Amino acid sequence: SVKRGGRGGVAGYAPEMLAAAQQRHRLRAALPGALAGDGLALAWQPQFALNGGALRGVEALLRWPASPLGREARPDEFLPEAKAAALLPAIDLWVLDTALAQVAAWHGEGRWQDEVFLGGLTVAINISAATLRDLGFPATVEAALRRHGVPPPCLEIEIPEEVAAAELDAMVPVLERLQALGVRLALDDFGGGMSSLVHLVRLPVDRLKLDRSIAAGLPQGQRELAILRAVVALAQSLGIPVLAEGLENEVQARLLAREGCDEGQGFLLGRPLAAAAFRQEVLRPAMATAFAREQALPGT
Ligand code: C2E
Ligand code: MG
Ligand code: MG
Ligand code: MG
Repeated sequence: SVKRGGRGGVAGYAPEMLAAAQQRHRLRAALPGALAGDGLALAWQPQFALNGGALRGVEALLRWPASPLGREARPDEFLPEAKAAALLPAIDLWVLDTALAQVAAWHGEGRWQDEVFLGGLTVAINISAATLRDLGFPATVEAALRRHGVPPPCLEIEIPEEVAAAELDAMVPVLERLQALGVRLALDDFGGGMSSLVHLVRLPVDRLKLDRSIAAGLPQGQRELAILRAVVALAQSLGIPVLAEGLENEVQARLLAREGCDEGQGFLLGRPLAAAAFRQEVLRPAMATAFAREQALPGT
């Protein structure tokens, strides 16, 4: 494994490559313990109506706060290791259960419990492709919803973009059963990859999440604008809403709203936050706004 480097020296593998491999190994070795022992966490990112700004829902994003990297690890860093260690199914179940427990707690909280607002808060979770081909998964979801007392329409399952075409057929019956339960299905990262259209043709879907590469290329990008318009037209003809991901500035948000995106998510509107911070910084102000709106209605 030693080769001749440039400048006449003898070099091993680039030290960065070795370090990266060691890092992956450390993550893989520590992951079962983290999963079993409360080591993983969810971060919560709000989703808002682009028109009027009402809170529409929240996406739960996986985090590993005290990872072997010596800092919080992102899903892009450790999910490949989870996959290699065959831990994705267990992680999916953990995410489902943890997200529903948290949303049930928020639903049940506060004196506005029965008001319009928190009872309808929707949580979106990311579930891996293999689990979405598991015919037992819908029953697991149904049992979890019942156990936590969360109404099925308050759960949205995001279908990942990275699904091989050959795997789609096996997903259809699972997704149809989830839909029959009342759970909503969103196609994640739509318009960012090659396979989006194939997915849309073959899978049942209630919402499109526009890949953040589209917002990132705007307002200048002509291709991004063209894709955006095509996606919005597609969604409108299917009668489903579009949520724009990765909104980082006002110019993007206004343009996407004007072009017909219904909802937005991104650092401009709110970063992913720990549950306590999300409650304090997002839920409480949103509750107050909803409450004030109720009070202002004539005759109430
Ligand atoms: P995603 O589902 O498309 O999630 C959106 C990602 O974009 C998140 O990255 C979020 O932090 C990031 N993001 C949000 N707003 C902005 C913005 O304005 N600008 C930019 N540049 N980024 C923004 P994160 O949390 O690192 O997750 C990355 C991916 O990992 C997710 O993409 C999703 O595919 C996957 N993932 C996350 N959580 C889970 C999970 O619980 N289970 C599974 N199977 N996959 C997950
Ligand atoms: Mg997602
Ligand atoms: Mg996405
Ligand atoms: Mg993604």
